[in-house]
Amino acid sequence: MTETIFYLIAGSIMLIAIWHHMTSLNKKAAAYDKVHKDAIEAGLTEPPSLHPVVDLSICMGSGACVTSCPEAAMGVIKGKALLISPSHCIGHGACETACPVGAIKLVFGTEKRGMDIPNVTPEFETDVPGLFIAGELGGMGLIRNAVKQGSQSIRTIAARPRTKADLDVLIVGAGPSGIAASLAAKQSNLRFITIDQEDSFGGTTYHYPRNKLVMTEPMDLPLIGLIKARELSKEQLMEIWNDVVKRAGLLIQFSEKMEEITQQDNGFIVRTNKTSYFTSNVLLAIGRRGTPRKLGAKGEDLAKVVYRLVEAEQYRNMHVLVVGGGDSALEAALDVSEEAGTVVTLSYRSEAFSRVKPKNRHRLDAAVAEKRIRVELQSTVEEIAPDQVILKKGDAVLELKNDAVIVCAGGELPIPMLKKIGIKVESRYGT
Ligand SMILES: Cc1cc2nc3c(=O)[nH]c(=O)nc-3n(C[C@H](O)[C@H](O)[C@H](O)COP(=O)(O)OP(=O)(O)OC[C@H]3O[C@@H](n4cnc5c(N)ncnc54)[C@H](O)[C@@H]3O)c2cc1C
Repeated sequence: MTETIFYLIAGSIMLIAIWHHMTSLNKKAAAYDKVHKDAIEAGLTEPPSLHPVVDLSICMGSGACVTSCPEAAMGVIKGKALLISPSHCIGHGACETACPVGAIKLVFGTEKRGMDIPNVTPEFETDVPGLFIAGELGGMGLIRNAVKQGSQSIRTIAARPRTKADLDVLIVGAGPSGIAASLAAKQSNLRFITIDQEDSFGGTTYHYPRNKLVMTEPMDLPLIGLIKARELSKEQLMEIWNDVVKRAGLLIQFSEKMEEITQQDNGFIVRTNKTSYFTSNVLLAIGRRGTPRKLGAKGEDLAKVVYRLVEAEQYRNMHVLVVGGGDSALEAALDVSEEAGTVVTLSYRSEAFSRVKPKNRHRLDAAVAEKRIRVELQSTVEEIAPDQVILKKGDAVLELKNDAVIVCAGGELPIPMLKKIGIKVESRYGT
């Protein structure tokens, strides 16, 4: 009798534990399903870079990939792992390592959208001798890879004989890869110049959202040594870059955009928006965000036109036009509209905001209802004048008072230029 009671109690405890476990799994699966559906609804189904593909015939739904993913991009639905939030995946690859049954492989591009990956040697040299590519442009994301590749490519350059060119290397880009490359170039006493099209170093890391948690691994920076941080905020990371650049005395030439590279006499002529350089090597550390896409409108070169929002506060009491239909355009318009006295118009050439996060869409609907933002769909910018902008909408012409224009129309990678100088670029569709 006692034995029967014992088995009954033990059995009941087991059943309750299983029930709890199943309920918790179902709850989690429902939450993952919602995230996945939201991503599909927002049209955010394409991962930007290296990302996991799960072999469903092997996956046993352990959830190890979910726990390991620092960006919360994975989920388990109906017992199988899935990339539920593709646009958040930045290729950490932790899921592949964590999977106990080897069901995950990392690939570039998807069936729908190819990803152009330039050919490089293990030393990061392209098919054009003397032209190197390091960091995310080469396909591999992450700060630690960018830093490693930036330093390694410079070591290869430093080991080669000097030529008569004015520079040993022109480093294009001052993101993690370009910073590490510049440190390595300084350490090796190379004649080098580093340029960046923006007004700050840090590259993509400079654009992370405020307080973003950055996951990285210890980085070995030439001249500086090992930076041991693994988890830090965007602001702490920017402080590190600041300190590193100051300590090493790096001089980075900002607001200088590389526009064209041509081969010449054992070297290259690199034309920028400011000047030209004759250099024996070029290191492209330009990432994959590209150069902000311009509108091609009359007056776009006025100083009041910018291509990203830095501080919303600076637009207080101003008439602001935001152009674009993606999350960054919506977020810029919303942030500016929260500042006192702003009159914000959001202009987008399509008929709907089809590829934005539901959260931003809801915030925009509320802002429009509160008359904080005026939305002009199917409109294009005709002209930007010092105190007004002219929009074209069908046959109508809208003249709006204007003090500032923020264009968020995406970026363009210089892939055609790379191909033109002879670099082989492979389009990957999920391989
Ligand atoms: C939202 C988000 C979160 C992320 N979180 C993490 C994380 O937690 N951990 C992690 O390891 N990685 C993270 N990453 C990825 C990481 O930021 C990138 O892999 C890394 O910054 C790539 O470094 P890079 O130097 O190759 O390129 P970038 O950082 O993109 O820098 C390229 C630089 O080149 C400049 N440039 C481009 N074109 C030109 C031109 N024609 N002329 C002159 N200059 C030019 C740009 O202005 C830029 O400064 C994240 C990425 C994103 C988008």
